[in-house]
Amino acid sequence: MIKIDERGYYGEFGGAFIPEMLHPNVEELRQKYLEIMADPTFEKEFRDLLKDYVGRPSPLYFAKRLSAHYGTQIYLKREDLNHTGAHKINNTIGQILMAKRLGKTRIIAETGAGQHGVATATVCALVGLPCIVYMGAIDIDRQAPNVSRMRMMGAEVRPANSGSKTLKDATNEAIRDWINNPEDTHYIIGSVVGPHPYPDMVARFQSVISEEMKWQLKEKTGNENPDAIIACVGGGSNAAGAYYHYLNEPDVRLIAVEAAGMGIDSGESAATSVLGSKGIIHGSRTLLMQTDDGQIVEPYSISAGLDYPGIGPLHAHLIASGRAEAISITDEDALRASYFLSKKEGIIPALETGHAFAALDYIKFKEEEVVVINLSGRGDKDLATFVKHFERF
Ligand SMILES: *Cc1c(COP(=O)(O)O)cnc(C)c1O
Repeated sequence: MIKIDERGYYGEFGGAFIPEMLHPNVEELRQKYLEIMADPTFEKEFRDLLKDYVGRPSPLYFAKRLSAHYGTQIYLKREDLNHTGAHKINNTIGQILMAKRLGKTRIIAETGAGQHGVATATVCALVGLPCIVYMGAIDIDRQAPNVSRMRMMGAEVRPANSGSKTLKDATNEAIRDWINNPEDTHYIIGSVVGPHPYPDMVARFQSVISEEMKWQLKEKTGNENPDAIIACVGGGSNAAGAYYHYLNEPDVRLIAVEAAGMGIDSGESAATSVLGSKGIIHGSRTLLMQTDDGQIVEPYSISAGLDYPGIGPLHAHLIASGRAEAISITDEDALRASYFLSKKEGIIPALETGHAFAALDYIKFKEEEVVVINLSGRGDKDLATFVKHFERF
């Protein structure tokens, strides 16, 4: 049985390793999150916004030409069609309502690809709360359109200039801010990472993905269980949402796709489940890429959203226990798969999502098998990167 325990552990992974000064904040959230989420007025407000503001349910689309090519039955869960273009809005809607219930008046967030920053800036505008988004200086450069979006909606984007100037550094800055503003501020974490209760809370908000998949598959195939679910994993929130209602259905294969960057042995990679070892990062015990003396190794991926040196504790547990299979996909394969989907189905995926599609080139499914790919986001934000490779694909 895959289940989080009272202390926030999935098996040996999880927990809450936080500085003393954050304790009241995290503890308040831990004590209240389940009760607040179970409140029917909260539930209604959340569901109404998912429907009328986000545009849910997101369609489950049978990809006919892709299926014919790979010789199996491929369905796409269209999170790319959500407002703001990815799954991340499911979580930020949930957390902004949570922040309001907790009486918070100031919102901070970290962002990699800029998708979580945009999703957070969006919900802050929606409810009228001030928003500060920390973002690595390199990501600010490579994701310029998302930076403009955040600013247009009134958020302040603060660059993180330390380390690799990417997602993990932005996360460090956000944690520092929270320590300095423990009373009035809620930190909207963008994935199933961080101290308990964040991984569980974010997974629950994202679980709407697999909740819908169940009835949509039933409608289309007569069976609510697919044979496999494929999702890319940065921190692991879109995968957690896509797996959630199938975690304890052992017949459903769960396939987690990580970024191999330039190749697993290249030193330029973010394939945490292969290269990582047990340790503590951003408040939880999980798998992370670290040196022998525990310094975090700078990750690399062509996609900013997968460029993270850890994975959420749920995924560490799923992979370590054998419940999920992990596969790593290079930049090159992700680019090729993104072009292939664009030309086969007229859908330009986010580069993160391109990694999930590339898994189809490495895992063979039977003709009658039903495979769901979680199409976590759309590729508009990555056009500048795609265009550089126009001649090759
Ligand atoms: C952020 C992002 C990811 C990676 O984050 P997870 O928490 O692992 O889901 C994947 N796809 C898209 C489109 C993203 O924006």
